[in-house]
Amino acid sequence: MIRYKLICKNCKKKFDSWFSGSKEYEKLKKLKHLSCHYCKSIKVEKTLMSPNILNSKNDKLPILRKNKFNKVKNKIKEYQKFIKKNLEYVGDNFAHEARSLHYNNKKKSKGIYGKATSNEIVELKEEGIETEVIPWFQDNEN
Ligand SMILES: [Zn+2]
Repeated sequence: MIRYKLICKNCKKKFDSWFSGSKEYEKLKKLKHLSCHYCKSIKVEKTLMSPNILNSKNDKLPILRKNKFNKVKNKIKEYQKFIKKNLEYVGDNFAHEARSLHYNNKKKSKGIYGKATSNEIVELKEEGIETEVIPWFQDNEN
């Protein structure tokens, strides 16, 4: 999108108008579809002021996205560290261990973490066992 400052030759007033590009401006002008916002005269001209360009193809955007992703990833990795330090890893036995904790009311000093399928998580939830799912990055993954 380009914003042009237009000036009316009739009433001398200036106003801003948005166009998809300089070609659209030329086209509308040729077709006499450009008119003054105030007096409706079609004697409007572009002023020499440089147009403000809103560039939709912002080069920095992918980098920003990547940074954001890395930030989230680092947060998760920190969380992973915390989990590894404070919880007991039960591997594929997670659903089983979670149930035994829940039903036997074992007071383990440590919580547990491990792998579970999404079906298992749903089942646990139905049984009133709350689990938390986080994406897990391998340590060798950057
Ligand atoms: Zn005018």
